[in-house]
Amino acid sequence: MTESKMSNMNFKQCNECKEVFPATLEYFYKNVKRPDGTIILRRQCKKCFCAYKKKKNSEEEMKIKIKELNSKRYLENRAKHLVQVKENYGKRRQALEFQILEEFYLMRKEEIEKMVNVST
Ligand SMILES: [Zn+2]
Repeated sequence: MTESKMSNMNFKQCNECKEVFPATLEYFYKNVKRPDGTIILRRQCKKCFCAYKKKKNSEEEMKIKIKELNSKRYLENRAKHLVQVKENYGKRRQALEFQILEEFYLMRKEEIEKMVNVST
């Protein structure tokens, strides 16, 4: 019985896109290296791992931004600014503008709180 080179090769299914690739460093990043020298490959192919990392990074960025937006100082400044706008411009148009701003902000605030699960 002769084995072809292909059947000798290990294949690995990507955990993400479910595609099968040769289990080599060309298609997968290494995860850990065992003390005996065996390389363990990641469960996602390189393409999926990159997409995952990118997504993770943007999620982290978003979390930081939300934290910033949700910080007490930001809320205070925002409130102060809104009050100032209201005080300085008593005209109907500006008042309406203020109302829209405030409504928009409150809408977002709720959204933000839901996302970061912060109760005030
Ligand atoms: Zn994949």
